[in-house]
Amino acid sequence: MKIPFLDLRRQYKQIKGEIDPEIQDVLDSQNFILGDKVAELEENIAKYCDAKHAIGVASGTDAILLSLRAHGISKKVTTSPFTFFATAGAIYNARCTPDFVDIDLETYNLDVTDLTDRFNRENTEAIIPVHLYGQSVEMDSLNELSEDQDLVIIEDAAQAIGAEYNGKKVGSMNTTCFSFFPSKNLGGYGDGGVITTNDDEIADRLRTLRVHGSKPKYYHHVVGYNSRLDALQAAVIAVKLKYLDEWTTKRQKNAEIYNKGLNEVNGIVTPKVDKGMKHVYNQYTIRVKNNLRDELKAFLTENGVGSAIYYPLSLHLQPCFSFLGHHQGDFPNSETASREVLSLPIFPELEKKEIEYVINLIAEFFEVN
Ligand SMILES: *Cc1c(COP(=O)(O)O)cnc(C)c1O
Repeated sequence: MKIPFLDLRRQYKQIKGEIDPEIQDVLDSQNFILGDKVAELEENIAKYCDAKHAIGVASGTDAILLSLRAHGISKKVTTSPFTFFATAGAIYNARCTPDFVDIDLETYNLDVTDLTDRFNRENTEAIIPVHLYGQSVEMDSLNELSEDQDLVIIEDAAQAIGAEYNGKKVGSMNTTCFSFFPSKNLGGYGDGGVITTNDDEIADRLRTLRVHGSKPKYYHHVVGYNSRLDALQAAVIAVKLKYLDEWTTKRQKNAEIYNKGLNEVNGIVTPKVDKGMKHVYNQYTIRVKNNLRDELKAFLTENGVGSAIYYPLSLHLQPCFSFLGHHQGDFPNSETASREVLSLPIFPELEKKEIEYVINLIAEFFEVN
């Protein structure tokens, strides 16, 4: 059997009948940047996330960059060292300094207790919690901390559209950034992103920042960006949004099958879902102990199964951030995770027998190792 890590063609085949006419519609209109399709999608995303506003931008990375600018952040921003590079890259490009706090090894998210206990960081203006793999960060203490210390919270929910925290949709509380990169749960057919917020003034600033800071056109009060969602992406995403909850349920069912089969296998740790969380499984990520991760990955590859490592090098050890002066050992949980995590195929269209094949292979690997 050959099981790809992600096969978007299976999904496209199912919705091609709806997608193709929508794309044709955009081609016929020849309106490609922002416009009605984008405005309509923004409304539907805001509704979906229980937020007042949604602002479409060019990518999830830009969503973070523009959010930092809209909130006027210019100093230190605390975030996780165990995330996709874009979180810290956007902080840097917003002329701020990334300031890392270690993660919890069970959820791979920011260790909020540790953060709250130790929080007296000079010059810190904002925190970016990252809802990694599709599970929300524990937000109550973070929201409290933000009130106590007058900190802005900008959520990186690139992997977590549809996730919930104590019954609340991710994106319904603070300024929140989502990505429409094709491999995300709500992926476009190219780059794209969106920001949700309940704050009228922030929404207005974001709408200005994405068009070079102009309002009206050709009158610039701030220097912004060229960062717009395009109509082709909006057309595709609008169709896919209708199926998002159904696909999320399928991801959750796939995760359950994995959990059942893998909980008995010694040598790995299956994902932990915290109380009150709705996990949307952008990734199903296990931890492989005894330094066997790379060997297991190679074994799966040999047997036709795709897998991926998110992420192999903690951000505090990236060469481009050496100016921050961090060393090996500064964030031990993040470093352990980068050595041990392995993401398995979890996309909604996977078949049960495919998941069982993966489980059996992993069990077989650990019988001899
Ligand atoms: C994908 C991703 C981003 C960036 O989104 P793009 O649309 O690719 O720019 C940011 N943060 C996290 C955690 C991501 O997974």
